[in-house]
Amino acid sequence: MTNYFDDQLLREIESKIDIVELISENVSLNRRGNRYWGLCPFHQEKTPSFSVSREKQMFYCFGCHAGGNIFSYLMKRDGLEFKEALEMLAAKAGVELAVSKSKKNQDLHKQMIAINNAAAEYFQQQLQSANGRQAREYLAQRGISQETIAAFNLGYAPNEWQALTDYLLRKGYSLELVKNSGLIKRNDNQERYYDLFRDRIIFPITQYNRDVLGFGGRALGDNMPKYLNTAETDIYSKRKNLYGLTQAREEIRSRNEVILVEGYMDCIKLQQSGIINVAASLGTSLTEEQASLLHRYAEKAIILYDGDEAGQRETMRAIEILRRQDLRVEVIVLPAGKDPDDFVEKYGKEGFWHYIQNNTYSHIEYKLNRYINTNPSTRLDLDTKTRIIAQLKEDINSSGSVVEKEHYIKILARKLRLEEIVVAREIRSGRTAGVRNKTGIIRDNNKYGKYGIQEKILAAMLNDENTFVKVRARIGINFFANPDYKTLANIFDQLQEGKEDKMHEMSRIAAEEGLEAVFARISMIMEEQNLEDREVEEFIKRVEIKKAEAAWNKVMKNIDTLSDRGDFNSALTFILNLDKLVNANPEGGIKQ
Ligand SMILES: [Zn+2]
Repeated sequence: MTNYFDDQLLREIESKIDIVELISENVSLNRRGNRYWGLCPFHQEKTPSFSVSREKQMFYCFGCHAGGNIFSYLMKRDGLEFKEALEMLAAKAGVELAVSKSKKNQDLHKQMIAINNAAAEYFQQQLQSANGRQAREYLAQRGISQETIAAFNLGYAPNEWQALTDYLLRKGYSLELVKNSGLIKRNDNQERYYDLFRDRIIFPITQYNRDVLGFGGRALGDNMPKYLNTAETDIYSKRKNLYGLTQAREEIRSRNEVILVEGYMDCIKLQQSGIINVAASLGTSLTEEQASLLHRYAEKAIILYDGDEAGQRETMRAIEILRRQDLRVEVIVLPAGKDPDDFVEKYGKEGFWHYIQNNTYSHIEYKLNRYINTNPSTRLDLDTKTRIIAQLKEDINSSGSVVEKEHYIKILARKLRLEEIVVAREIRSGRTAGVRNKTGIIRDNNKYGKYGIQEKILAAMLNDENTFVKVRARIGINFFANPDYKTLANIFDQLQEGKEDKMHEMSRIAAEEGLEAVFARISMIMEEQNLEDREVEEFIKRVEIKKAEAAWNKVMKNIDTLSDRGDFNSALTFILNLDKLVNANPEGGIKQ
C-alpha cells in the first residue's frame, strides 16, 4: 500500500515524529523499564497491556493484539486510509508531500470543503433564526435536545428558492463552485438554478476532522421525497460515508463494536440517550464500502433495523455484506412496527440495554429464525429442512470454534426437530475450510510475556543475521507452523544480506502484507527476550529429529508395502537408496 511513496520520504517523517509523543496525545503512557505502557485505546481494559517502544518506534497491545508503527497507529486511531495518515503525519512533521494529485485538484478539494462548511454554518444560523421556529418545534417534539443539535450541527434550510445560493455568492464563492457543490440544481425548463434543500431539517455529514462533506435533509412539510441527500460530488459519496461516525468513532473503537441503524434520527436519538457507538447507513441500503469503513473501527457489528418487514429484509442483506468484510455480526430484533428511535424514547437507555440483553442474536440464529418464521406452513417438510440446513451450512462451518459449531448444530436440530447427529453430518459433508481472520492476528494464549518458542526463534533470527543464516542452513525457514511467521521469515530472507536498516524495510513490507501487528509483536519480543545460542541449538535439534522421524516413517511404510507385495528386488534397491531418502527433508509446518 505504500508503493507510490518513496521509502526515503517515509523515513524522514518517521525520524521527525516520535511514536511515544504521538500516542501520548490521547493515551496516558507510563514508563516501565525501556517500554511505555498505557490503557489500550483500541479495546476496553482496566490494567494496561498497551505497550510502546521508543527504540523500535512500534506499538503493540498484548490484550487485543493491535500493533504497528506511527502510520498504522493513526490509521487505526482516526479510521484513516494510509494516504490520509501519511498526509496528516507529513503535515505534523513539516515534510512536503509530492503526491500525484495536482495542486489544482488539491485546491479544488479544499474549496469544496470550505463551501460545505459555510453552507452548514448557514443552515445552523437559520435554525436559530425566526425562519427556523417550526423546525425547532419539530426537533423539540422529537425529543432532540439543544446539546444534540449542537453536537450534530443540525440546521434548517428555509423555504426559499435562492437563499443559500445568494448567501454563498455573498461570501465570495464562485457560481461555478456552488454548482459543483451539489447544493443547487438547474431548473429543467429555464436557465435557472435553485437551492436543493428547501424547508428541510439539515443533517451535515462530516468526516473524521468534522469537515462537512455533504448533507441529508428531512422534509418538514409535505415536500417529496421525505429524505434527500447531496448528490455525488468530488468530495462526497453516499456509498462511502456513514452518518454519526464522526461523533461515535472513539466509542466504537474502544468497545470494538458498532450498532448499525437505518436512519439519521435513530442514530441521533441513541447517541443522545447515551448509547454512543452507533452509526447510520444514510438512508440507503448498506454498501460494501460502508462495511469496510466500519471494519476499520470495530470487529463486531450489531444490526438494529426497524422491526417491520422491510427492515428485516434489509437486515438479511446487511448480514451478508458485513460478513464479507470479516465482521462478526449480531442482530437486535425490535418488536414489529417499532424503530430504534421510538424504542429508546419509550424505554430509555436502561430499558434499551435490558431489551438487547434478551433480544440479540448471532447472525446464524437470526437467519435460522427468519427462515423458519417466513416459511408458510408451520409444519416443516423434509425438503424445507434440508434447504434451511444448506443455507446455514457455510455460516456454521466458518464460525470460530468447535464449541460454537456444536452450539448451532444443537439449536438447528431442536428447531427443525431432527437428530443432532444427522444435522452435524449434513453440516460437515463436503464443507470448505473456515476462512482465516483477515487481520491475521492470533487470538489465543499470547498474553504479555507468554511467548511461544516459534515466535521467540523468529525474533532471534531477525535480531541477529548470523542466527538466521545458521537456522536456514540447518532446517530451512519453512518449519513455522504459523503462516504469518513463515511469511515474515521469507520476507527477511529476500532482503539483501547485511543491508543497513533492514528492520525498517522489513516493517514496511510487513505492513504491505497486512502483517504489521504480528511484526510489532515480534519486535517487542526482540526487545525484551533474546534466546541464548544454546536454546536456538536445542530448537534446531528438535526440528531435525521431527524431520528425521517423519522421513523414517515414510521409509518404513514403503518397506512394508514392498514386502507385502513380495517384491524383493524393489525392496533391495529401496534400502540401498535409503540414505538419500532419509536426508530428503520434508519441508514446512512441523508443529513444536
Ligand atoms: Zn488493545
